[in-house]
Amino acid sequence: MKGLADYHVHPGFSIDAEPASIRDYCLAAVAGGLAEICFTPHFEVDPVRRARDWLIRLPDGLFPMDNPAWLDVYFREIEAARAEFGPLAVRAGLEVGFERGTEETVSRVTDAYPFDLVLGSVHCLDHVAISSARECASYFQNHSPAVMSRSYFAVLSDAVKSGLFDVMAHLDLYRRYGGRFYGAAVDTVHRGLVEPVLADMAGAGMGLEINTSGLARGDALFHPSDEMVCLARAAGVKVYTLGSDAHRVADLGAGLERAAGLLSRLGLLPAAFAGRRH
Ligand SMILES: [Zn+2]
Ligand SMILES: [Zn+2]
Repeated sequence: MKGLADYHVHPGFSIDAEPASIRDYCLAAVAGGLAEICFTPHFEVDPVRRARDWLIRLPDGLFPMDNPAWLDVYFREIEAARAEFGPLAVRAGLEVGFERGTEETVSRVTDAYPFDLVLGSVHCLDHVAISSARECASYFQNHSPAVMSRSYFAVLSDAVKSGLFDVMAHLDLYRRYGGRFYGAAVDTVHRGLVEPVLADMAGAGMGLEINTSGLARGDALFHPSDEMVCLARAAGVKVYTLGSDAHRVADLGAGLERAAGLLSRLGLLPAAFAGRRH
């Protein structure tokens, strides 16, 4: 991972991540030779899932995510890491789980703090986390691949059009567990649905993430698949970031070299963000 940038990292603020600090990750970033690390704690504010998702881990316990006090702690730790670890570039990001109707809650937070990058993600359909091994069956078992994909890409389209995000994360996240229920259909359901979304992203100058988290799960492909990355390039998407989606320090930077190789074969370069500009 020498000289590369990991733009999707979950420090211990996220309750589904190991309780590692920003400093722990920066030590690993320096040891591994990363040039940049961008932290992206989860921000999930679907009122229906309040009891499940709206929690942040701080040293003295779990706290509600909608109390912005945790962001003051987050930015203090970011500042301390910048002072300690330069020339490592330490970026402050956020991964927002998009849910229709929560746009104002999201923009209040992203306007109030000096983020370098805001990632947009679709984690839930019908308020079920399709990103979760535990939860996803209750959605996938009850929806055909065609219904799931129409629903997923409609939410994704609204996320892109919301204008809230700089980069869209793991564009085909349903592939993570969907294959167990849908078989090979999961690899083709995007056809005819993703193209208009990619065109909107290109029009808005938005970025696409190459998320390497599938490799650790035994998936040979990134999120999105190589086919979708080619479609993105054809649609005119010009900005690409690389992200391990590490939820533990051991996964920091995993797969980034391969992802950088994919971009380079397509004649593309990974982007860097500061102050939400690339
Ligand atoms: Zn995610
Ligand atoms: Zn993530």
